[in-house]
Amino acid sequence: MKVAIRDDDTCYFTSPDALSRVYGDVWDRIPVCLATVPFAIGYQRVGIPREHWQSSEAFPLERNAELTAALDELIASRRVTVALHGYSHQDFPDGFEFQAAPDPERRVGDGLRYLRGLLRTDVSVFVPPHNALSKRGLSAVASAGLDILGSFLSFRPSMRAWDASTLANWWRVRRYRAATGRAKSDRFVYPHVLRYADHAEFGCHSLVPGTTLEELVAGFEEARRAGGDFCLATHYWEVSDAMKQVMLRLLDHAARYADVRLVAAEELFAS
Ligand SMILES: [Zn+2]
Repeated sequence: MKVAIRDDDTCYFTSPDALSRVYGDVWDRIPVCLATVPFAIGYQRVGIPREHWQSSEAFPLERNAELTAALDELIASRRVTVALHGYSHQDFPDGFEFQAAPDPERRVGDGLRYLRGLLRTDVSVFVPPHNALSKRGLSAVASAGLDILGSFLSFRPSMRAWDASTLANWWRVRRYRAATGRAKSDRFVYPHVLRYADHAEFGCHSLVPGTTLEELVAGFEEARRAGGDFCLATHYWEVSDAMKQVMLRLLDHAARYADVRLVAAEELFAS
């Protein structure tokens, strides 16, 4: 069984200290997949200075030289891997970036080229900002050859182009839902990779304020019973001491099993 960690929103506004505060005693146990924004535009959240909440100015990652130097070292020592997390992470009046931007194809292409060039590392995974993807956004990401790490995505034809694998995937998810006694409206994380013609998808368990260790252990044990894998997703900028304890205890729980491997998130997609 594979267990991975994804952390969102590393960008120009991130200080290396903010990452090491959360992961300094984690990334030696398990590599952390940093879902990184290449050209961040500010919005209202903890850790982004108020003057950038509305400024619409895009900040290339490299303008934070302290961060890119830290990332170089963390990548070289295999403590982190880098995923693409949107292009600017900006919110549009009618949706999130990969639902509403007029040019998702360009954003994926340019963002990918930029991160790969700046950090001299492979980037093979996309994390949608706010876990939100339109049909066109999904196609743009898949066409670029990226796998998607995110919450469960819809099978509605308005939300995804169907290919030869889609029907079988729909059936697998439907069968899993029935086997675990869930209604259509019940939220859950499907614990296996779903492979499509040009990409693959895997869902994550969120660690947000209020998430309990019991909830995550239940999700882990369910994935384990199903012969699946497990990925935890969080945001370094909202990880409190209490959340950090939940993360550590979950890793302790997982590490008790001899067959559990703590891996980089990219490895979840390995066949
Ligand atoms: Zn984000």
